Amino acid sequence: MKKEFETATYELVAPHIVKIMQNRPDARNAQNAQLTYDLNECFDMAAQDEDVKVVLFGGEGPHFSAGHDLRGFGPKYPQKDFDLVGTWGMSREGGVHSRYSFEQEVFLGMCRRWRDFPKPTIAMVQGKCIAGGLMLAWVCDIIVASDDATFVDPVVAMGVCGVEFFNHPYELGVRKAKELLFTSDWWDAEEAHRLGMVNQVVARDDLESYSLEMAKRIADKPTFALKLTKQAVNTAQDNMGQRSTMDTVLALHHMCHAHNSEIEMRAVRAEGVPEKFREGIKAAE
Ligand code: ZN
Repeated sequence: MKKEFETATYELVAPHIVKIMQNRPDARNAQNAQLTYDLNECFDMAAQDEDVKVVLFGGEGPHFSAGHDLRGFGPKYPQKDFDLVGTWGMSREGGVHSRYSFEQEVFLGMCRRWRDFPKPTIAMVQGKCIAGGLMLAWVCDIIVASDDATFVDPVVAMGVCGVEFFNHPYELGVRKAKELLFTSDWWDAEEAHRLGMVNQVVARDDLESYSLEMAKRIADKPTFALKLTKQAVNTAQDNMGQRSTMDTVLALHHMCHAHNSEIEMRAVRAEGVPEKFREGIKAAE
């Protein structure tokens, strides 16, 4: 059984095991609204199907994920408390409200939802995994990486204190989190394995078969025990402060966005509206 969404696929690949794939290979699986909500539908289907016990999660094409789609997130927003126009960050109301609500739901909220998905999930990561792509790998319970996988969160270079699902200290350790954020350096699969961010490193050609074999061993276990084991380990991480850390860091993250907008507005007042924003403003009028 395979179900195709616009930007994702859902496929039963073995008894009790579903494979969910991001399917925007030409865009290197850049995450837009369509992909976010297609993936969410896939996860919902897997959660609601009693027969499904384990989910494999990957990305079609040479790279797992290029991160958030910086060409725009597209119009498909489910929020009700504001009205976005054009590119993200621009709303009729303006200010911080729309961007904060948007990121709280679409980035932090969705990632939390998938992190707490009630069945074991295994990310299969190949090629590049950039910024927002890290969030999609990190929400999974287990990460299997191919030996050519490389990772980076370069958003400090863009003036923001790391991606919205701020799991860096829990994935990399406190010191390496600082180093890799401060420098925007890449780390490879071996380094990710050494740091404990990645469970196993395998040859690219073996990525799916290896992950599937692991999924089968997990699928042999009782459903409810798997669910509660996941909940137990996630509770341990919650008690290490993950949840409140992320809430606080999302506020810091938005202070960065607000700062950058203010600086940009100062330039707009001095030099006029940059070409890239004119279309959105026309649409808003
Ligand atoms: Zn952001």
